[in-house]
Amino acid sequence: MADFSFAIEPVYIATIFFFIVGLQRMSNPLTARSGIVWAGAAMLIATLVTFFTPNLTNIGLIAIAIVIGGGFGYIPAKRVAMTNMPQMVALFNGMGGGAAAGIAAVALLGPTTPTSSLAVVGGLIGAVSFSGSLIAFLKLQGWMPSRPITFTGQQIVNMAVLVLAIVSGAFVILQPASLPLSVNASLPLFFILALGFGLLMTLPIGGADMPVVISMYNAFTGLAVALDGFSFVTPNYAMIIAGVIVGAAGALLTLKMAKAMNRSLTNVFFGAFGATEEQAAQVSGSVKAIEADDVAVLLAYADRVIIVPGYGMAVAQAQQKVQELTDLLERRGVRVKFAIHPVAGRMPGHMNVLLAEAGVAYDHLFDRDEVNPEFPSTDVVLVIGANDVVNPAAHRQGSPLFGMPILDVEQAKNVIVLKRGQGKGFAGIENDLFYRDNTRMLYGDAQETVGKLVQALKKL
Ligand code: NDP
Repeated sequence: MADFSFAIEPVYIATIFFFIVGLQRMSNPLTARSGIVWAGAAMLIATLVTFFTPNLTNIGLIAIAIVIGGGFGYIPAKRVAMTNMPQMVALFNGMGGGAAAGIAAVALLGPTTPTSSLAVVGGLIGAVSFSGSLIAFLKLQGWMPSRPITFTGQQIVNMAVLVLAIVSGAFVILQPASLPLSVNASLPLFFILALGFGLLMTLPIGGADMPVVISMYNAFTGLAVALDGFSFVTPNYAMIIAGVIVGAAGALLTLKMAKAMNRSLTNVFFGAFGATEEQAAQVSGSVKAIEADDVAVLLAYADRVIIVPGYGMAVAQAQQKVQELTDLLERRGVRVKFAIHPVAGRMPGHMNVLLAEAGVAYDHLFDRDEVNPEFPSTDVVLVIGANDVVNPAAHRQGSPLFGMPILDVEQAKNVIVLKRGQGKGFAGIENDLFYRDNTRMLYGDAQETVGKLVQALKKL
């Protein structure tokens, strides 16, 4: 085969440009899809050009691995429901961490070099990301209890496992002849301990915090890949830069999500959120139901309406109907806005993506700070499948949600909540908004109930 190895470095550099453009485009819901295509194309090109590496062996095995891995990725990704995306991301991210740990293992099996210590750190972080992400996947998929799993002395055990992993990693590099542990034994021990640490670190974290954790493991995977990029004789710039981009973007996302949920990272990792029962739920009064026809009248004669979408709208796939409803109301002269909470749904930007897909104009979407002052002068708030992000318990000391910035919908003149029944939100906490005098419940699957509102409005 002709020698094209001279092309590898320039092509890697070009793919880095693609990655950056892709990431930039992902920051806006309107261009996000094409951002994924840019980044995916970059990954494909980087993979293909790697086949021109001089003296590359096992080409057949590599090709088979790519076909098997690609198939296992493509089919579930095509089938997965939007609402199960967090666990899918956890699983795929875990695979990335595992691959990074594998690359580090190969580097460490060779002779020790000045960059071996980077391979040890990359291996440690990659293995933690792998086993931690798998636990996150199992918890979110409901294949193991999503509540925090705790035991006495847990943090001491965790620390001990981490210290032992670091010590065995040091043995791998130093290979001290006087010590009983040869490199052959210390390398598997190092990875077992690193995997164990990832597992132990994730068990005490409850389902409610899991997406923050997944985002952090995503950053870990990026960092591990970047460190692996240094562990070859010639550094692999595609791995280093792509890894740093993933690491930085993941870290930023983690911090933003933690802030929006009012959780410090220390609290997420060491707080065992949800381990204790909430103090007696502070609700009083009774919930009052309302029929779609009555809601339609309220909406039709309102001046200002704010729609608050949440996870339930995504489950019900009600966004198209919501867009229809918005059109009808606007034609009647009603001013309609959407209040988007940063953690509504199950992933960052979840609501923005769904509403953009349904054709809701971007200038209708407002974030919490913009819209909160408007609730007192709003005639009707339609809460569609949202719960935690409108839970006034966030203002109450002692509640696990205390301090989470919420949408203050309870200040509106009328609050209509569309949900199926008495189901709690993601945090599993009672919501006294539903018991307030100005709140009415419109029960049913959101797609059906919004559909009924559309029909009723057409008749008015
Ligand atoms: P919640 O999960 O708090 O509540 C959703 C509500 O929707 C439920 O109470 C449920 O009640 C209702 N529902 C479910 N299915 C339907 C349906 N088919 N039709 C109508 N209603 C339905 O959602 P929010 O969006 O308010 O809050 C998101 C939560 O997720 C927050 O706690 C946030 O911290 C968390 N989270 C979000 C992340 C993100 O990035 N977006 C990441 C991590 C966590 P019922 O069963 O009675 O119908």
